[in-house]
Amino acid sequence: MRIRVGHLYPEYLNIYADRGNIAVLTRRAALRGHALDVAAIGLGEPVVPGEHDLLYVGGGQDREQSLVAPDLAEKGSSIRDAVAGGTALLAVCGGYQLLGRGYRGRDGSFMPGAGLFPHETAAGETRMIGDVLLECELVPGERVRVAGFENHAGRTVLDSEAEPLGRVLYGFGNDGASGYEGCRVERAIGTYLHGPLLPRNPRLADWLLAQALAHASGSEPRNLEPLPDELEAEAFRVSAERARARGGRG
Ligand code: GLN
Repeated sequence: MRIRVGHLYPEYLNIYADRGNIAVLTRRAALRGHALDVAAIGLGEPVVPGEHDLLYVGGGQDREQSLVAPDLAEKGSSIRDAVAGGTALLAVCGGYQLLGRGYRGRDGSFMPGAGLFPHETAAGETRMIGDVLLECELVPGERVRVAGFENHAGRTVLDSEAEPLGRVLYGFGNDGASGYEGCRVERAIGTYLHGPLLPRNPRLADWLLAQALAHASGSEPRNLEPLPDELEAEAFRVSAERARARGGRG
């Protein structure tokens, strides 16, 4: 199958080797006989619901965020329609923040977001930096640990009915207080974790691929053929160990 990927603002939101996430998806898809068609979606270019099986938004600092925020807010309803129609989505850090209702900067200014995730973010005075370990349930009943690195000043507060990506075992997470990290809506995942995220979390990468393939083929998500993943398991182990060494939450 061809998996059509729309990469939003690769020239602005890319500070944490976010392209590495796309490289992982490309490789893991190819090993199962599928091809990724990755197209950039820039400022002023529309998101046409149904045209992508997966949307990707990377991280960026406040300055880059402010350059894309008005455009992203304008694309909000088509991004929400795409996700409602079964398109998968991964948003990291700055992109995760801007896919919520909005981001309040240190100067009090408010950047409205795309309104996909039920959350709001406000910049805090200190940065939350370090390795993180989460416990997630990507598929109901199957617990999986996800490891990554966070570096953000923004505190993201989820609405009470919102579904987080996972529970923080070690690290700060959304706001350093709730004990939760990230957010999920249908097949969309937003997270602060980068480093990049997918090379050390192959189960998360395969979950996303399975969702994108389900959209591409108009069927239910299916399990993908397992891969050896020895290096990936080692990368996860090192990252999880660093998070553990850092100690409890926050
Ligand atoms: N505005 C963001 C912050 O909280 C940027 C996050 C990021 O992508 N580093 O710091």
